[in-house]
Amino acid sequence: MAKIEIIRGDITRLDVDAIVNAANRSLLGGGGVDGAIHRSAGTELLEACELLNGCNTGDAKITPGFKLPANHVIHTVGPVWNGGMNREKELLSSCYRQSLRVASENGIRTIAFPNISTGVYGFPKLEAASIAFETVQGFLTDHPEIEKVIFCCFDEENFGYYNKLNCNKTLIKLVKSTSEIKIVADLASTIWNEYYVPIIGQEQVNYMVASFQSIEAIEQQIRTEHQEYYLIYHLAEPSGYICIKPAGNDLFLSKFYILKEKRGTGLGKGGLNFIISRAKELGANAITLTVNKNNINSINAYDKLGFKNTGSVVTEIGAGFVMDDYTMRLDITG
Ligand code: ADP
Repeated sequence: MAKIEIIRGDITRLDVDAIVNAANRSLLGGGGVDGAIHRSAGTELLEACELLNGCNTGDAKITPGFKLPANHVIHTVGPVWNGGMNREKELLSSCYRQSLRVASENGIRTIAFPNISTGVYGFPKLEAASIAFETVQGFLTDHPEIEKVIFCCFDEENFGYYNKLNCNKTLIKLVKSTSEIKIVADLASTIWNEYYVPIIGQEQVNYMVASFQSIEAIEQQIRTEHQEYYLIYHLAEPSGYICIKPAGNDLFLSKFYILKEKRGTGLGKGGLNFIISRAKELGANAITLTVNKNNINSINAYDKLGFKNTGSVVTEIGAGFVMDDYTMRLDITG
């Protein structure tokens, strides 16, 4: 999964497969980042652009990078800010999506974006940063072929906004496709080994991963048992997952795991807020779960999030293995 990086600097200096140009509809050069790119690439870039017949706002077209360190330039045309009621947000999002689509179609793995439309086109910078981040993250979840995306900020203000967004940017996405199910299965194997080997031993972990978190098992849980799986992305990296199933007036939180290396990044709280809002949507008035009695870290984490211990349950899970769990419950009000 691609990494997102935020840097401050001049995009014309970046040695990546492609840099994105915030061009105008003529594609024949302009001021700002467009001017800088044409100056560094040389006149051949203008000649290549002349053959492209311009470009619509929100769309993207590709040329070689000529004298630039980058191999390609993807030219996209951002919207001019005109108060916000003229599809500006949708068009800005489209610039990022179309640029990534063109990149992907041309075998590009590393790509750098300027802060499109935030110069003379006047798009409010914080809002533009948020649209850029969200669109790029969304695209990357389905496009593992893109390895790195750099947001290259020229001014201090933009750099500040991108870093602020970066700190707490998480995306929680309903698992639908087989490729997403595979991501869950891989995460499950890593996380269950991290969490459970010290508690229940390797043999039982192997059995549980193979029986309950294989691609086939998850597929079955989604399609025939109506469980909802969600992937938690942090900085576009799969970092945890959730599985819920409605049970009468309760929502049973069957799985809620976060990679060890991602603990302390606020994903636990973010994930729970998401689960609570989903529970409300489904008309549930409590969230229930079971947690292994020896899983002290998780018990403490749920305790901190407001769950109350409501009893014990022993479950046979097959092959002679049992789970000795506490039950916990969080009542939802409002
Ligand atoms: P737009 O017309 O889309 O607003 P501008 O070129 O005026 O395009 O500005 C887009 C962004 O590019 C602005 O945030 C500006 O600060 C930035 N910028 C200008 N020169 C460069 C450069 N050499 N490298 C990266 N970003 C740049």
